[in-house]
Amino acid sequence: MNQIGISRAIEVEARGYASFSLKCNERVRLIDLNGAQPIDFWAFNSANIFEHLSCEHTKPSIEKVYPGLGDAAYTNHRRAVVRLVEDNSPGQHDMQFAACDVYRYRQLGWDEDRDGYHHNCQDNLHKGLADLDLSLPYTPQPWNLFTNFFLYADGTFEIKAPETSPGDNMTLQAEMDCFVVVSACPQDMNATCGNQPGPVRVEILE
Ligand SMILES: [Zn+2]
Repeated sequence: MNQIGISRAIEVEARGYASFSLKCNERVRLIDLNGAQPIDFWAFNSANIFEHLSCEHTKPSIEKVYPGLGDAAYTNHRRAVVRLVEDNSPGQHDMQFAACDVYRYRQLGWDEDRDGYHHNCQDNLHKGLADLDLSLPYTPQPWNLFTNFFLYADGTFEIKAPETSPGDNMTLQAEMDCFVVVSACPQDMNATCGNQPGPVRVEILE
């Protein structure tokens, strides 16, 4: 991959996370290295953590179920926080489903006493915030990048494997100074990650 124009790259291992800050107008490229790997994405106003990307507030703002090329994601104060400026992927970026968490894995049959700790995007968010010396007493719903939760016309969903290929990527531009957390979703109990959670790369562009 062309390294020109990258000010910082962060490798995120399978089931891992990363947190970082973006200045307004700075761009970040998110890369699915092996294919079929969703990225849970959160962004917070760097001046007020209680203003953050909100899927519930984005959908009425754009009148779509998730942003497409050129659309922004909005905060719970109904301001643009990031904008999708380049998309080299099938363009499936769900805004319906909450982050996976310990309760989701229990719901699917995981037993911590029997099976041990299951990585999850909710814990990854709070670890990422802690790395920035931040904390939040709840978990906003993430924007589920590269996630193929297919909505049928009758209102039902199907959890399908992502159609991303190795190296597929998207670029978001910050619309305000913000803190970002990304999680390489560890979901291995259904098709969300094609049953094989993989690594991702974050490139902050110059
Ligand atoms: Zn997850």
